Amino acid sequence: MTIYFGPAGNSASFYAEGHKSSLEMPEWLVKRRLNAYEYQCGRGVNIGEEMAGRLGQLAAAHGIKMSIHAPYYINLSTQDAEIKVKTRGHLLKSLKIARVMGAKTVVFHPGAGKGGDRRETLERAKTFLKDILKEVEDEGLSGILLAPETMGKKNQLGSLEEVLELCELGSQIVPAVDFGHMHALTGGRCTDRHSFSAVLDRIEERLGREAVQNLHIHFSPVEFTGAGEKKHWSTLETRFGPDFTPLAELLVERDLKPTIICESDKRQAEDAAIYRDIYERIKSGHLKS
Ligand SMILES: [Zn+2]
Repeated sequence: MTIYFGPAGNSASFYAEGHKSSLEMPEWLVKRRLNAYEYQCGRGVNIGEEMAGRLGQLAAAHGIKMSIHAPYYINLSTQDAEIKVKTRGHLLKSLKIARVMGAKTVVFHPGAGKGGDRRETLERAKTFLKDILKEVEDEGLSGILLAPETMGKKNQLGSLEEVLELCELGSQIVPAVDFGHMHALTGGRCTDRHSFSAVLDRIEERLGREAVQNLHIHFSPVEFTGAGEKKHWSTLETRFGPDFTPLAELLVERDLKPTIICESDKRQAEDAAIYRDIYERIKSGHLKS
């Protein structure tokens, strides 16, 4: 088992160097000693099957672990019949393209959490997700993990507890733990060991050792307000947390092998490499002591 680091989408430098197609990304990532790539379908699954298949083959040839970020329009808690149809469609389409691409995980935003009774909102999302899972099974797509993401805004469904509860619906559902979002939602608390270990402990408590062992993590510096997440920055802006070092220490000590996807603004690959270097430095120190 190995740990994976990589970007969400393509860095500004990728394009500045003259690259145009994501098909060039697997080789580009290998040159930067990165081994994961989250393909962005935030604005819809617009990649064709042929292109997805080619990207998947190139990724496999270069040892890059693929995941997909599903469309932002997914909303499991909606009561609108039309949005429900679209949500189901976006999830199924994302899973189908993930299969073609050889992506093991599809990350998605659970839905809206504004107004009303939050418990009721979550129950509605659970019922709808359970229903979608039946169709997922009928389509033979149960082998790809569906990962609801922990969200950064108070009016979004997706606190850690809510995500863990969605995960308890079945083994196909795993958490996508976005520490930038968690940092924003907690008013900037993801800066010390205790905050990170509490999150890891809670996941293990509710979902078991394997879930925490193979976590799908999003990590990037985030600016926030009282309402939560405001903007993703890069590590060049040192005033924004969360801090990766305490998490890296825990990953080493607990021998966890997550996939860490960096969503920094414009520098997602550069920052993924910075996080990898922090992890490797701690790991080599740990082995020596
Ligand atoms: Zn996301």
